[in-house]
Amino acid sequence: MRLDDPITTIKGVGDKTSTMFARLGIYNVQDLLMYFPRTYVTYEDPVDIADLQAGNRQAVRAVVNSRAEVKKVRGLTIVVVYAKDYSGTIKLTWFNCPFLRNYFHIGQEFVFVGDVSYKNGMMTMSHPEYYIDTKYSELTNRWQPVYAVTPGITSKTIQKAVKNASSAIDSIVDYIPESIRSEYDLIEMGRAVYTIHFPVDDQQLRSAVKRMAFDEFYSFIANMHRIKEEAVYVQNEAVIDCDEDVRHFIDSLRFKLTNAQMNAVRDMLDDMRSDHVMNRLVQGDVGSGKTIVAAIGLYAAAVCGYQGVIMAPTEVLAVQHYKELSELCKTYSISLGLLTGSMTAKEKREMYSRIKNGEVQIIVGTHALIQDKVEYSHLGLVVTDEQHRFGVRQREKLAMKGGNPHTLVMSATPIPRTLAIIMYGDLDISVIDELPAGRIPIKNCVVDESYRKTAQGFIMKEVSKGHQVYIVCPMVEASEVLDDVANVTEYTDELEHAIKETYGASVSIACLHGKMKSEEKNAILSDFSEGKISILVSTTVIEVGINNPNATVMMVENAERFGLAQLHQLRGRVGRGGLQSYCIFMSGKKDRDTMQRLNVLAKSNDGFYIAGEDLKMRGPGDFFGVRQSGEVMFKMGDIYNHSDMLRAAQDVYTKYGDKICNGLSENGSNRLYVTPVL
Ligand code: ADP
Ligand code: MG
Repeated sequence: MRLDDPITTIKGVGDKTSTMFARLGIYNVQDLLMYFPRTYVTYEDPVDIADLQAGNRQAVRAVVNSRAEVKKVRGLTIVVVYAKDYSGTIKLTWFNCPFLRNYFHIGQEFVFVGDVSYKNGMMTMSHPEYYIDTKYSELTNRWQPVYAVTPGITSKTIQKAVKNASSAIDSIVDYIPESIRSEYDLIEMGRAVYTIHFPVDDQQLRSAVKRMAFDEFYSFIANMHRIKEEAVYVQNEAVIDCDEDVRHFIDSLRFKLTNAQMNAVRDMLDDMRSDHVMNRLVQGDVGSGKTIVAAIGLYAAAVCGYQGVIMAPTEVLAVQHYKELSELCKTYSISLGLLTGSMTAKEKREMYSRIKNGEVQIIVGTHALIQDKVEYSHLGLVVTDEQHRFGVRQREKLAMKGGNPHTLVMSATPIPRTLAIIMYGDLDISVIDELPAGRIPIKNCVVDESYRKTAQGFIMKEVSKGHQVYIVCPMVEASEVLDDVANVTEYTDELEHAIKETYGASVSIACLHGKMKSEEKNAILSDFSEGKISILVSTTVIEVGINNPNATVMMVENAERFGLAQLHQLRGRVGRGGLQSYCIFMSGKKDRDTMQRLNVLAKSNDGFYIAGEDLKMRGPGDFFGVRQSGEVMFKMGDIYNHSDMLRAAQDVYTKYGDKICNGLSENGSNRLYVTPVL
């Protein structure tokens, strides 16, 4: 079997399955082998219901003792079944699986596996897996890969296909010669691939992931290098030089820029008036005030007669930037435009023509800005916010849109300078290492369930002061996207209920999740920023960039399921104004390691420190799931965890360059290559 053979070459994969694979972007054997598990689970022996512990993933062997109840909550179908063993009863719920209503019959025994929680006085599993006993014992005591799936294909199907493609794995030829592998302690490619799908133990998995990380970094560096060579030195066509206006703009801001912001502004202005095109990264922790730096650049471009564009990773953030920039520019005769994917075709057409004929000078938007249909007039500056959410290619694509505009990219990823130089090899860097004056440090606490009542009381106290609250629920592990939605909607209902019961008050609560339509999301966020909503229950869609200085509390549910860096990003949503803000990390587990890890956040509000500590404390099995979220650039590589591999890749590239690199792109042979992440 060859790597470029179609997926149907694999035993058991027919035409029907292959269309499902296609939905996952898997067309040939190579695609399949490079489709790595999202995480792993182990199936432990079942325990007695009486011994279940909330917050754990556990298994019970129990007999169904109720008929399935079907409820409707906010448009979701919930199937509820009760099951018991000699020691107690457990409640089992499934979301949007109406077919399950006729699946379970009283008296049948199953093994149920899932995340245990304690709700309304009862042990509960949401969306448990269910097995007959003999099937279950086949799974126990081995790591099982869990793949991201779409309806119509299961993790099992993928696992089986990989197994049946093992002859292809055996034939993989490593493009990295043995000598280099042993120098950098890299295991062989084929073995790494096999191990990632079927790990035997933690140690082996670790080496396998390291090897893949190396390849991702290597391919990244090689491609970065190519880009750099293509764009060695570009003559500045958009000389943006208007100090007087800029000084006036800065003087009339409602706050004084920090020294670090001033330095970044100066770097930017120096570049834009120089004889070469700007390629600059502005790096600064959450809340350090990067937006205003971009605003100044955009303003400068506009007054000098150029168009300026700012691209945000989400629609919500684009709308927020649009409002903020409109406010900043309202006393100047500068016109702004907004372009996002959810606009109607007519609205888009209108905006395209206003952009093309130069009617709008500052354009804010999402990926919609890089569509082929968009033509700019006199493009002078391109800003990408939250750079880590975009690939280099997207950034480039925007820059290619007209002449050779200056580019400014902004990132909150706290990355040590030495690594930044490798990662952002094609950029100059300005660091904003100072928070605006007058910020009151966030007060943090890490608590467990027993603190819930107190936490709710605290939240209510802040709400009664007119302040606002974020509550973040994690993505539910395992399978369907819908769980996520169910999770926040159900949570919101329960919270509303609890508040009414305890405080007799009704508080305006809303929920927000990624599956909502953009207009709906925007409406909720604008209600929230106008103070019409007191408590916003949300998934991590709020992670990136949302700014509401009146929000003083953030409570993160099941904080243990997040990486520290992500929690730090999340917490950046509060403490953005002059009000004392608080962050409550609610942990579903209370073992020492979990508490110790989360307590890093309580000790410091500094993103660099946290990224460093996170790295030190990563335990076995922390390869996925608790990776630095936000770093979507690499599938396996984690610039913190694998910083040694990043350096190794840089080293190998410096020494051997394209000699090895050629092996990377040689498709159709039995060399496996890592898709460049650019
Ligand atoms: P981030 O760097 O996370 O993108 P923002 O640019 O959104 O941060 O800024 C966070 C908040 O701080 C905003 O409300 C912004 O208006 C405010 N801000 C920015 N710079 C200053 C400053 N120098 N002094 C006071 N407030 C500032
Ligand atoms: Mg920002």
